[in-house]
Amino acid sequence: MKIENSTNRNTDDLRRLVLAGMRELKFSKRKISEMVVVFKKGKDGIIKGRATLGQNNVEVFLPETFNQLKLAFLIEHEFVHIIGLNHEEMEGTFYRRWKFADSEKEARKFLKKMKWALPYLNIRKAN
Ligand SMILES: [Zn+2]
Repeated sequence: MKIENSTNRNTDDLRRLVLAGMRELKFSKRKISEMVVVFKKGKDGIIKGRATLGQNNVEVFLPETFNQLKLAFLIEHEFVHIIGLNHEEMEGTFYRRWKFADSEKEARKFLKKMKWALPYLNIRKAN
């Protein structure tokens, strides 16, 4: 796996989160070794991502400050595209949870789903 990082965040912290997401989605060792994840500075204050179905490249645009759980969700979302799913094929309201669930029940479901990311949500600022 290759990480490129031109953001204000620590590359090793980003790498740990990315690897955890790949493991969660059961990427093969070969797939992991082929992946290229590029972190760039976000221009408009929101986290965004881009991936092409079935390819190995993911781009993530990170603003100066952001919600780290949202970053984990975005990474997972882009990796689901890498596996080959488009939005219509994503399970249930998975795609819409990007906007975060409004009911408490949905929020709990969301957190349960994101459990894999919780140990990795300390993405420090780069020195
Ligand atoms: Zn998408």
